[in-house]
Amino acid sequence: MQQAAPNRPALPPEIARRRTFAIISHPDAGKTTLTEKFLLFGGAIQMAGQVRAKGEARRTRSDFMAMEKERGISVSASAMSFDFGDFRFNLVDTPGHSDFSEDTYRTLTAVDAAVMVIDGAKGVESQTQKLFEVCRLRDLPILTFCNKMDRESRDTFDIIDEIQENLAIDVTPASWPIGMGRDFVGAYDMLNDRLEIMDRADRNRVAESIKITGLDDPKLAECVPANLIDQLREEIEMARELLPALDPKAVLEGHMTPIWFGSAINSFGVKELMQGIGAYAPEPQPARAEPREIAPEESKVTGFVFKVQANMDPKHRDRVAFVRLASGHFERGMKLTHVRTKKPMTVSAPVLFLAADRELAEEAWAGDIIGIPNHGQLRIGDTLTEGETLKVTGIPSFAPELLQGVRAGDPMKAKHLEKALMQFAEEGAAKVFKPQIGSGFIVGVVGALQFEVLGARIEQEYGLPVRFESTQFTSARWVSGAKPAVEAFAARNMQHMAADNDGDLVYLTRMQWDIDRVVRDHPEITLSATKELM
Ligand code: GDP
Repeated sequence: MQQAAPNRPALPPEIARRRTFAIISHPDAGKTTLTEKFLLFGGAIQMAGQVRAKGEARRTRSDFMAMEKERGISVSASAMSFDFGDFRFNLVDTPGHSDFSEDTYRTLTAVDAAVMVIDGAKGVESQTQKLFEVCRLRDLPILTFCNKMDRESRDTFDIIDEIQENLAIDVTPASWPIGMGRDFVGAYDMLNDRLEIMDRADRNRVAESIKITGLDDPKLAECVPANLIDQLREEIEMARELLPALDPKAVLEGHMTPIWFGSAINSFGVKELMQGIGAYAPEPQPARAEPREIAPEESKVTGFVFKVQANMDPKHRDRVAFVRLASGHFERGMKLTHVRTKKPMTVSAPVLFLAADRELAEEAWAGDIIGIPNHGQLRIGDTLTEGETLKVTGIPSFAPELLQGVRAGDPMKAKHLEKALMQFAEEGAAKVFKPQIGSGFIVGVVGALQFEVLGARIEQEYGLPVRFESTQFTSARWVSGAKPAVEAFAARNMQHMAADNDGDLVYLTRMQWDIDRVVRDHPEITLSATKELM
């Protein structure tokens, strides 16, 4: 098991064995397939295909899901826990939208590492690059899985070069593929001097692993076709000479990524990747908070909400807040303090996401994700503690890049619309602004697809057809400054002012010029494009 960082105390074993991570990838690279295999080898499901099957069943339940399906967006569980060897893995799903969404960013605040899946034929694609940049902002350690090696793929050195160049990170081969496409036979485990031979007959079986004593071992010739042996020897020799050796510290700091080559659909390379996550991904890390950092080994429980999902059951207006435990040992029935409202909250029915099923959680440890059903009290960014006033920081809300006005198809239902919009705002699905002049709302999103999703969900979940219409505004900035200055500014710029869904003041802008003008003429006012959620 991993060593504690030098200046950090050793964690209690239950915490130290946890690995909480997300998978980042471009659509179609194989995230769903890999997730299935994780669950299969984690003993959480009996047969690959169940994750997808569950997804399908859910999708048919609503138009929204059907719409996601049409667009090829994968829908799967938000958090999944499973055991592998000595480890407890918590896999947090990143939304698969091709539009960058805040949801994705916030999900990445809840994990300690990311697994980057790339397609061996396509290399680093656009969505992978964007997600990688987000991980980099937080210096998240990244482990790479190069998938679909059973297909014609690129030259191994090319793939590694591309990652190094496009993502500016050192790449060290944890395994080396032998052959490719039809000739792909397996991989050489560079870390343990083992041969892993792929079984093409049984896709759910773990590959055969053969211990050898290096590249001169005669066993090599028994397992690898003669025409590939020389190439393998040559490539590994070159790789050892040209590429950096694995440096666990550099991996933890996010400067180096180990890469495994495999084929998720053939279960190949997955076990080695899982062992790699155990060995090289970090144990639960401290959480940034005000006025002090929270360390996972603290005996008191703290956690923060990074995602809210409403209407998981459309018949009940329930919400589930996804909470990452930042410290301590949580037990069911605990009374925690909801720091924002200073109210106590008894967590009597927390949900643990074991396998793909929701299960009542009796206990959980720092690093785990629990779901807390609630009626809207818990919002994204909220902190829960055993009484101390702490606020986890770094969970941002972004200024929307697209704004539209929204009206209820039936004007009598304006109140319902407000309720629906507020719910989606709480989920983080959109920003809702109420202009100071006039009636109606302005909705802001980061990606265009979100308008469609929102419209479909309001109609589906509230039976309320809505119309989006264009507005003169294109973006919004949060306004801060001394109170009298802000009030004077707001009074002078009434047509631009609105309140966001938390009641905070924003300045709606038509073009960059509006922002430049404020910066020039109002040094007493600060406009910002992000707001820290609290
Ligand atoms: P996601 O969009 O990233 O979740 O990708 P999926 O897991 O749904 O995979 C996309 C497609 O690639 C599916 O048709 C998979 O069956 C296929 N696929 C996944 N892994 C492999 C692999 O190792 N080899 C091959 N040939 N196809 C794969």
